[in-house]
Amino acid sequence: MSVHSKIEWTEATWNPVRGCVKVSPGCKHCYAETFAERFRGVPGHPYRDGFDPRLVPDKLLDPARWSRPTTVFVNSMSDLFQDAVPDEYVAVVGTIMRRANWHTYQVLTKRSERMRALLTKTLSQAAAAQHIWWGVSVEDRKYGLPRINDLRNTPAAVRFLSIEPLLEDLGSIDLSGIHWVIVGGESGPGARPMDKAWVEAIREQCAAASVPFFFKQWGGVQKTKHGRILNGRTHDDMPRASTAPPPSNTSRRALIEELTPLTTQWKSEPIVHLVTDSKKPSKIA
Ligand code: SF4
Repeated sequence: MSVHSKIEWTEATWNPVRGCVKVSPGCKHCYAETFAERFRGVPGHPYRDGFDPRLVPDKLLDPARWSRPTTVFVNSMSDLFQDAVPDEYVAVVGTIMRRANWHTYQVLTKRSERMRALLTKTLSQAAAAQHIWWGVSVEDRKYGLPRINDLRNTPAAVRFLSIEPLLEDLGSIDLSGIHWVIVGGESGPGARPMDKAWVEAIREQCAAASVPFFFKQWGGVQKTKHGRILNGRTHDDMPRASTAPPPSNTSRRALIEELTPLTTQWKSEPIVHLVTDSKKPSKIA
């Protein structure tokens, strides 16, 4: 069984990488870091290294093990395109998503330049697959809007924006080539406020451009108090899933056997010494 998720726009999470490095203001209150650091130093715990980046090769084959078609958020606890993850490992993740094609995958990054570069070359087959959706996070104008341009220039069949946490009015957004927009406010201790007018402006632009709009949450220190109603209703639009029929158990087992050699060369060790993230600012505002 997959790991069920409480995230409103997905069904399950899959983390073949754990840990990350902060790159922009949207990372300030990263929920993944908060969660992971709670378990730093706990022997045997998956997050015994806290939020230090780590490959998790024994998770690579999970989607092939899951028989029920599922919408999967890839690396909810990390960023697949951070510098610490070797190109070859990203390619294995791409191959597994492409071959386990009875699921829908949602891959979200703040490293839009590297995603564009890899999807243009090594991952071109995964980029063309309708069941793999590639997205960028957008929190503000300075860091977020350039990622949209990178995404638009990425040869992906399905492209989406996760505009969360929305930190300011984004103004006019070029939504050409974008197939889905998610908007949400920050939640948890220290949550930065989100103005309704900023959300409305994005919703109206999505409507004008016929782009499905998903409103995730208002957020706030206690997000359950504020819910996810906008103008009297929820907004849950998504692209239509386009997956292959689930295989028989025999075919699935054969696929696992075929893919296993791709996964065995990797070790699960902290890779923090490799972190050279060029986008890392000196201070997260
Ligand atoms: S890129 Fe995502 S996972 Fe990585 S630190 Fe920022 S918010 Fe957290």
